[in-house]
Amino acid sequence: MFEFSSIEQYHSQLQEGRCTCLQVVEHYLQKIKENAHLNAFIKVYADEAREKASLLDKQRDSNIKTGKLAGVIISIKDVIAYKDHPLTSSSKILEGFESLYSATAVDRLLAEDAILIGSTNCDEFGMGSANEHSVYGPVKNYLDITRTPGGSSGGSAVSVQAGLSMVSLGSDTGGSVRQPADHCGIIGLKPGYGRISRYGLIAYASSFDQIGIFSKTIKDAALILEIIAGPDDYDSTVSTQQVPAYTNELNRTSNEKYKIAYLPQALDHPSLDIEIGNSIKDLLLHLEKDNHQVKAVNFDLLDFAVPTYYVLTTAEASSNLSRYDGIKYGISNHENVELTDFYKSNRSAGFGSEVKRRIMLGTFVLSTGYYDAYFTKAQQIRNLFRDQLNLVFNDFDFIIIPTVPKTASLSGNSNLDPISVYLADIYTVIANLTGIPAISLPLFTHTNTLPFGVQIMANRLNELPLLRFSNQLLIKYNADF
Ligand code: GLN
Repeated sequence: MFEFSSIEQYHSQLQEGRCTCLQVVEHYLQKIKENAHLNAFIKVYADEAREKASLLDKQRDSNIKTGKLAGVIISIKDVIAYKDHPLTSSSKILEGFESLYSATAVDRLLAEDAILIGSTNCDEFGMGSANEHSVYGPVKNYLDITRTPGGSSGGSAVSVQAGLSMVSLGSDTGGSVRQPADHCGIIGLKPGYGRISRYGLIAYASSFDQIGIFSKTIKDAALILEIIAGPDDYDSTVSTQQVPAYTNELNRTSNEKYKIAYLPQALDHPSLDIEIGNSIKDLLLHLEKDNHQVKAVNFDLLDFAVPTYYVLTTAEASSNLSRYDGIKYGISNHENVELTDFYKSNRSAGFGSEVKRRIMLGTFVLSTGYYDAYFTKAQQIRNLFRDQLNLVFNDFDFIIIPTVPKTASLSGNSNLDPISVYLADIYTVIANLTGIPAISLPLFTHTNTLPFGVQIMANRLNELPLLRFSNQLLIKYNADF
């Protein structure tokens, strides 16, 4: 019986002849089948995965060099393009659409011989926090199927949580990698804006969107990041700064002492579950005892994070999603001949209720007369967030805050009270508003038996120290909480 603990350990099993890629692919296909009720996958690429695995086994037998991700089983969120494969953003409007090209991130995984096992379920166009706004139905949390796995990358999170893939790619516009990672008890990394090309990532809110990584170990996240990060001729927003050799750097033992800020407004926020708050305060005490410098920093912008995020992202979404009109993409109702009716009927039939709500909100905040009051104002506040965080990072290496105010909620609540769902994004949206990297680490278990994480944020393009510190934290404190 195959057991996965890390890519490194899997590769040594292959090397020592204790398993073959094909056996491992069969193992994952079987697990996906057994866990079909979780609804994590939209499409499983079984035959292709078997073919690729057999090829890799042959190459290994003939001592032909294979890539750094040889045989690594990866799932990808249904917002990331894979040539000649369906791509729908979990939306009816893209029903039947197949991508004509692959995302740069996908091409880079394939170039290192990864096996893409399938596409994962998510909230429609990445809009949601419980994976309940999907045309394919909700995804269930493997630890408790009456609860949500979080969202919007719920299928990706569950595929790693339940052992249906080794790692997964998701996307994070306001927390969609870190929040489900928190709810599923795994690692969720959102690299900083400009670290990974978004070429081939379906746009939700372009100045926020980032591809992120789900994994069970920091080293695995580091390896995937190393492979997919870096300049890309197809995306001018990617930083030209050299991508560090994350995995080599992680191999060096690290006992560095860091300067760590925490935000009292975040830890004493009325929406935060007391036990989550206390666990994070406890972690801060441990860090202080271990000679890290830990200090409180005043952050009075916190309550503006969610409104600013929702004004700007809905505005960007209303513009990005205007391309889905039934002419070039997806479903198209030809009964109406008049052009405006044609658009209306396609968009009315194709988008789900949450996406419609956001398009309307976004159109409103961009409309004449309201533009300055909402959109311009939100942009100004976004700048204040950047300025304040720059000041914090002048003096500190990291900021520690919760990932999510509460553990995974019971299924079926997403539509009841959208505002309270939005408010739960309070801790994750800060990193997207400011473009910094952030990670959720699965350090804690609540007395209600559910897992929850802690979120570490670092300065722009400081993924390397972030990964090193995360490794330290998981090794040192995993047993303590
Ligand atoms: N919950 C956030 C939203 O609905 C997260 C979205 C995301 O990161 N894709 O906008």
